[in-house]
Amino acid sequence: MATLRELMPGSRLPRFESRMLWQHVLQVPRSWLIAHDDKPISPEAQQAYVQLESRRLAGEPMAYLLGYREFMGHRFDVSPSVLIPRPETELLVETAVQLIRDIPSPAVLDLGTGSGAIAVSIALANPDAQVVATDVSLAALKVAQGNARRLGAAVQFAQGSWYQALPPGKVFDVIVSNPPYIPKIDPHLAQGDLRFEPAIALTDGDDGLAAYRHIVSGASAHLHDGGALYFEHGWDQAPAVCELLQQAGFRQVRSLPDLAGILRVSGGHL
Ligand code: GLN
Repeated sequence: MATLRELMPGSRLPRFESRMLWQHVLQVPRSWLIAHDDKPISPEAQQAYVQLESRRLAGEPMAYLLGYREFMGHRFDVSPSVLIPRPETELLVETAVQLIRDIPSPAVLDLGTGSGAIAVSIALANPDAQVVATDVSLAALKVAQGNARRLGAAVQFAQGSWYQALPPGKVFDVIVSNPPYIPKIDPHLAQGDLRFEPAIALTDGDDGLAAYRHIVSGASAHLHDGGALYFEHGWDQAPAVCELLQQAGFRQVRSLPDLAGILRVSGGHL
C-alpha cells in the first residue's frame, strides 16, 4: 500500500491544500502527516482523498470540502447553505463589540446570520449581550444553531425575512448585517468560490443596495433611541450606504477600512 510520502507529491493541488485534505480524510493533526508519512494509507482513504481532490480541482471551496472555516479564532461549521465567513467580516464584529462595550446587557440583532459567524462571535466576545440572529433560510439557521451550541454562545435564533423574523415590539441597542450586496450583473457571481455559495446570500438580484434600503427603512422601529446600525458592504458601496443612512436620519455616519484598506463597514446612530 502506498504511503503519504509517495502519494503527496503526485497531487495536483497546492501543497497546503493537499495537506489539509489528507488531515481531513485521516482525521489527524498536521504533525501526524509529517511524523507518519511512511505509514501505508488504506485504499478507502486514498479513494476519499481522490474524490475531494477532484472536487477541489473543479473549484469547490476548501471550506465546503472540509466543512468548516475559522473566523474570529473560532471554528465555524459551514455547508453550501451558508456563505463562507470572510476575514473582512471580522471588522463588523469588532465594531459591534466596541459599540456595546459600555452598555449593560446590550441587545444586539444580526440580520441574515448565515453560518452565525457574526452573532456567535459577538456573543462569545461579550457574554452579557442578548444576541438575536435571523435568517430566512431554515437550512442556514440549522448550521448557525449548531455553531452556537458547539461554541457555547447564547444566541437566540429566529426564522424570517429581515425584521419579519422578530417578535413585534422587540428593540435593540445595535443592529448589524452582512446582507447580500453583489449586484445581479456582477460577473464575479459566476467565478471562483461564489459559484458554489448560496446566491441568496450573495446577491439581492438587483443593484446590490436593495437589502440596505430595506434594513435602513425599518431600523427606527427596531432601535432604541441612540441605537446603532452597522453594515458590511462591497468595496465601492460606502458612499451609497452612508447616503441611505443619512437620508433616514442617522447621525455620526462613518465608514471603516478593512485590513486591505477598503471601506468595508458603514453605520451610524439614530
Ligand atoms: N463578501 C462577499 C464577496 O464579495 C459577498 C458577501 C455578501 O454579499 N454579503 O465575496
